[in-house]
Amino acid sequence: MPVAVSEPRSVDISLSQGISIVWRDGHLSRYPILYLRERCPCATCAGTHGEATTRVRAADGRSNPLPMFKPVGATLKAAQPVGRYALQFQFSDDHNTGLFTWNYLREICPCDLCRPPSSGGA
Ligand SMILES: [Zn+2]
Ligand SMILES: [Zn+2]
Repeated sequence: MPVAVSEPRSVDISLSQGISIVWRDGHLSRYPILYLRERCPCATCAGTHGEATTRVRAADGRSNPLPMFKPVGATLKAAQPVGRYALQFQFSDDHNTGLFTWNYLREICPCDLCRPPSSGGA
């Protein structure tokens, strides 16, 4: 588990392009909006992603990011901070129930350092 809570040093939000976060350790994360929409952590989306198979993941620490649906051209209508620990987005399909905590955002950072291309290796 991480030692300290991930906190951003700066956050740049573009409603049409996506989110950029510079973390306190200097790491830069850039999230396309579609990427965030597909990983919305709310109960509704979490259920949609996995359909009948609920919480199969986290057995060996590796989730199974299989996007079951792709809402094309996702944008943001709004983005607002929730307390000091999360961001809440309103997506172009009016979905806004997902809370993206800093920890979660850092977890799903799509950069090469955080997401090595060797996926599914044994
Ligand atoms: Zn959701
Ligand atoms: Zn990263």
